[in-house]
Formats: sequence, structure tokens, C-alpha cells
Amino acid sequence: MVAQVIDGKAFAAKVRAQVADQVAKLKEENGITPGLAVVLVGEDPASQVYVRSKGKQTVEVGMNSYEHKLDADTSEDDLLALIDKLNNDPAVHGILVQLPLPKHLNEDLVINSIDPAKDVDGFHISNVGLLGTGQKSMVPCTPLGCLMMLRDYHGSLSGMDAVVIGRSNIVGKPMAQLLLGDSCTVTIAHSRTKDLPDVVRRADIVVAAVGRPEMVPGDWIKEGATVIDVGINRIERDGKNKLVGDVDYASAAERAGAITPVPGGVGPMTIACLLANTLTACCRSNGLPEPEGLTA
Ligand code: NAD
Repeated sequence: MVAQVIDGKAFAAKVRAQVADQVAKLKEENGITPGLAVVLVGEDPASQVYVRSKGKQTVEVGMNSYEHKLDADTSEDDLLALIDKLNNDPAVHGILVQLPLPKHLNEDLVINSIDPAKDVDGFHISNVGLLGTGQKSMVPCTPLGCLMMLRDYHGSLSGMDAVVIGRSNIVGKPMAQLLLGDSCTVTIAHSRTKDLPDVVRRADIVVAAVGRPEMVPGDWIKEGATVIDVGINRIERDGKNKLVGDVDYASAAERAGAITPVPGGVGPMTIACLLANTLTACCRSNGLPEPEGLTA
């Protein structure tokens, strides 16, 4: 079997177009423009690239983008004061604090100071609890993007065996909750899992979120399974820098029914889902119906 490629770049463009369409309607019919505030502390080069890209895409879909760049030695009190200001600003519907934060700042404290209704990253403890109990929440962007692609490819996921490799709070755990919410039978595998190949071989859906280049070889994949590769790993091969996933793409594509490439799979969906979450937060805060197909 040669796998169908799930094109995350094209899918993300479709999501952004849907968001832009809804934003235009909100402006025209309700006079509301959704606003996303992104807070960056320090000068981490990767974070700067992400924040720039988020700001650019926010504006492209017609939303307001508010960027707050703070010095690396900003005190916790000053950061919390800014978040409090954004929590109370009616023009701001989504707040994202770019992680990681400098070491002297308590990430949990900072994230949990964001108004849960504006927590478009879905990392606030209230949103984690709401997701875990199957209630309406803000859902972390990367797993939401994976879920959208799986639903688009399969329609219903009900009754499927899913394995999530990785148990991080950002990807693995919320991904497992979302798959459970769609009635999959879910296994969460991690660094201490016994016989990982055997666990993966039973799965109709494999989501790999580990951060180890090409650790899942094709012969672990059940014939016809759907493979979602979240991993983004920089490696050097044949003297060139390359991005690869957690799955060995070439061998997995020979057995899978469908597979996301790296790059061009899950990656582009993350910012698209951040925009979708900002729109959802804006609709909810204004008592308007949620955008269809853009939430969990
Ligand atoms: P993390 O380091 O927080 O978690 C990795 C998880 O993998 C841990 O739970 C650990 O138990 C598990 N693990 C480690 N070694 C293992 C092994 N040998 N076998 C099985 N499990 C093992 O990482 P994360 O933040 O969840 O990110 C995972 C990957 O996804 C990284 O490559 C990251 O860059 C990527 N990522 C991509 C996006 C995106 O937008 N596409 C977003 C977030 C993360």
C-alpha cells in the first residue's frame, strides 16, 4: 500500500480562509474585530520567528494583532500586570504567552493568570480540566489541528484504536483526550512503555509526539493505519540540514493508509488553529454561535 499524503499546508490554508470569511462576517454584521495579543519575553530566536509568523497570519485573516515584547529580565509582577491588563481589555479576545519563558518566571503561575476564556493556547488548568471532563473548553492548537485532519480524512473516528506516543501537557495528553472524546480506544505510550512496537502495531491511528528523529520505523505501522507525525526534528544528513518527524516517513508511507509529512503536515495547522481558537473565543465572549468545523 502507498499512503495518501495528508497535506497540512493545504488544509491550514483552508482553515485560515474559513476563519477570514467568518471574521469578515463578524465585522460586517456585528461590528466586532477579533483581537489576539501575543506576549514574548526575551529574545529566543525560535520564539521570535514564531511570534512574527503568528502576528502576520493574524493580520492576514483580518484580525487585530497586539504584540508585547518584554525584556528578558522582566519581573514576574510586571508580566502578571500586563496579563491582567489584557484580561480586562475588551478588544483582546485571545492571549498567548510564548513559551518557554526565561527561567526566573514561573510558567504555571503565568499561564494560570490568563483569563481561561481568552486562553487560546488551552494550557490554563481550567481548560485542561474542562477538556478532560468533556466540557466546552479552549483546546491546545497542535492536537486540535491533528484532530481536524483525522476527522477530515476518516469522517467518524468512533471505535478506532488510537495510540499517542508522548505524554506532554502540550501535545500527548490533550491529543489523547480529544481522541477519547471522538470515541476512539486510546493508548498513551511514553518513554517507559514496554514493547512500544507491539503497541503501535495494533493501532488504526498513530500520533507520534516524541521529539526523536525517525524513531518509529515503517514495520511498526499496521497496514492501512493513519499516521500523524507531530515531531519536528532538525538533523544533518549528507552534509545538509533537514527537518524530519518522529516517524521514518519513507518506510511508514509504504504501509500506512494515510500519513502527514514533515515539513508540511501538522506544523502549519498549529497557527491556523490558534486563529480558529481566537475566533471561537471572540464568538463565545460576545454570545454568538461558534464557527462551525473549527472547534473540537
Ligand atoms: P516533550 O519533550 O514535552 O514530550 C516528549 C514525550 O515523548 C514525553 O512524554 C516522553 O515520555 C516521550 N518519549 C521520549 N522518549 C520516548 C521513547 N523512546 N519512546 C516513547 N516515548 C518517548 O515534547 P512535546 O512538546 O510533546 O513535543 C514532541 C515533538 O512534537 C517535538 O519534536 C516537538 O518539536 C514537536 N511539536 C510540534 C508542534 C507542531 O506545531 N507541529 C507543536 C508542538 C510540538
